Amino acid sequence: MSRHSTTSTTTSSAARVIRTVQGMPTSDGAGVKLRRVIGTPQLPDLDPFLMLDEFGTDRAEDYIAGFPEHPHRGFETVTYMLDGRMRHRDNHGNEGLLVPGAVQWMTAGRGVVHSEMPEQQEGRMRGFQLWVNLPSRLKMSEPAYQEFAPERIPVVQPAEGVSVKVIAGNVADADGNAVSGPIVQPATEPTYLDIELAPGHAWSNVLPDGHNAFVFVFEGALTVGEGEDARPLSTHTLGVLGGGGRAVLLAGSSGARAILIAGRPLREPVAKYGPFVMNTKEELMQAFVDYQEGRF
Ligand code: FE
Repeated sequence: MSRHSTTSTTTSSAARVIRTVQGMPTSDGAGVKLRRVIGTPQLPDLDPFLMLDEFGTDRAEDYIAGFPEHPHRGFETVTYMLDGRMRHRDNHGNEGLLVPGAVQWMTAGRGVVHSEMPEQQEGRMRGFQLWVNLPSRLKMSEPAYQEFAPERIPVVQPAEGVSVKVIAGNVADADGNAVSGPIVQPATEPTYLDIELAPGHAWSNVLPDGHNAFVFVFEGALTVGEGEDARPLSTHTLGVLGGGGRAVLLAGSSGARAILIAGRPLREPVAKYGPFVMNTKEELMQAFVDYQEGRF
């Protein structure tokens, strides 16, 4: 038996999967093998999300070279570690170690030059990096970090067989009380949930009105939607959700783990090249000049 919890008392319709995409194998940094899910020709972006990479390997040679020094301007990078340890350092003197279950929400703003390097010689490295756009008024803001160790990320068990780590956004617990994730970003009001469902168990959560949303399955398989609209999502598949309302997730016979991510679209022009994401070509060229001349 499963129970549906919602953060709203009104009955709402169920969100539908309007398209599915598979990640594309690629490499980035100094040759880290990963699967790009958003930021490909198939799915260039999903406003305000510019990129989603899934990295996951037991082979040190796939990750050991890491991501040596590189710049960012105009958006946010979000690293969520599942397994492994990654050390980050930037040109403003910030340094930290991401451990399994930790999240780092970095607002690059006007400019950060940083490195992200594995702090291990062997073993599994697994997690996600998501790029979230910033509105034009915040693109040149001071760089900032929101970094949380695993014990500071609330875990909600809204129903039997359902466990949700609330990184950003709100989830109703078993008593119907809203539990908020630690990340604060009023510009896009992001939702970032790590959901674990036992075999055959279901859960649903209301998506914020007008937000773009997707589910990405990283273990097992899920069905998303209700009735005739229910669509299966296999491992390493992303489903773009449409229609708002409740996201209804039902795990397959081997259970499932998925991230559910949503954000308010910015609806602004996007001029991007590599690690710079601005609104106009001129701003993009200025970013290159500022970086070359050491103004990050
Ligand atoms: Fe980076």
